[in-house]
Amino acid sequence: MSELIEVKNLKKYFPVRKGLFGKKHFVHAVDDITFSIKQGECFGLVGESGCGKSTLSRTILRSYNPTEGTITFSNKDLFSLNKQDEKQSRKDIQMVFQDPYWSVNPKMTIGSIIEEPIVTHLKLTKKEREAEAKRLLHEVGLSPDFYSRYPHQLSGGQRQRVGIARAIALNPKLIILDEPTSALDMSVQAQILNLLKDLQRSKGFTYLFISHDLSVIKHMCSRLAVMYLGEIVEMGEASKIFKKPEHPYTKLLFNSLPTLEQTDFTLSMFEGEMPKAIDPPKGCRFASRCKYAVDACSKKQELFFINEESSHQVRCHLLK
Ligand code: SF4
Repeated sequence: MSELIEVKNLKKYFPVRKGLFGKKHFVHAVDDITFSIKQGECFGLVGESGCGKSTLSRTILRSYNPTEGTITFSNKDLFSLNKQDEKQSRKDIQMVFQDPYWSVNPKMTIGSIIEEPIVTHLKLTKKEREAEAKRLLHEVGLSPDFYSRYPHQLSGGQRQRVGIARAIALNPKLIILDEPTSALDMSVQAQILNLLKDLQRSKGFTYLFISHDLSVIKHMCSRLAVMYLGEIVEMGEASKIFKKPEHPYTKLLFNSLPTLEQTDFTLSMFEGEMPKAIDPPKGCRFASRCKYAVDACSKKQELFFINEESSHQVRCHLLK
């Protein structure tokens, strides 16, 4: 399998001022992130809210320009595309949101929500668009009757199916799934995850799956990266990391989840204060909450391989 997307040394800083005439500071939302995703793969991104995963996905969608670094998609630099390639990349990268209800106009019918990207990118007649939208509804397990309904008439699971139909309408290469099931109850979650797996199998989609729910990541992803305060602290094959997490933060995350049902984690589960993303600490960013911290942790920690064969990487000098 070849790489579909390569993110290299990506940084996204947001300037902020403290006080009315205060000095300029920077929120290091994404800080020197490097990873790649192969064609047809499902790559998981795990982390607490505020760790930078949403900024990262929005930078891939080109809602933000990077402060530094590159994103190569289908062998082309995403930030220096000509007009034609730019249009193509907008077709090729799609996103599924947590609850599509909040990302669409509630006054639009389901049909026009699904047709919107088709209108922008494909030259189809009204009749052809309608047929295509109904085919997509069928593909995601909904009756064509939903075509004339409105979002508020649908359940959360049905709305998410519509969000998926809209995302696959242009047959994209990469779909970013941003917490696609976290607003749904367990039984509906399983149905949506199975639908996503079936679509990946039949269409060969590549997924970047963002979630704070470890059971979902375990079910869906072959590889994963754990983010903490803008940085990747551990990355590798999902099965290996779930079996034996190495970084103290990953250990804490994974070991503090005793049951399958209790797979969500929140900041309150951990001891100590999470440092601010504004001018974060120079050394290990997890040091203020790490029970293994020693003086050497105040130096910058690099991501390094602990197993080159399985590409397992961690950011902690204790594991060298
Ligand atoms: Fe803990 Fe130090 Fe490793 Fe950071 S570098 S995770 S503080 S032991």
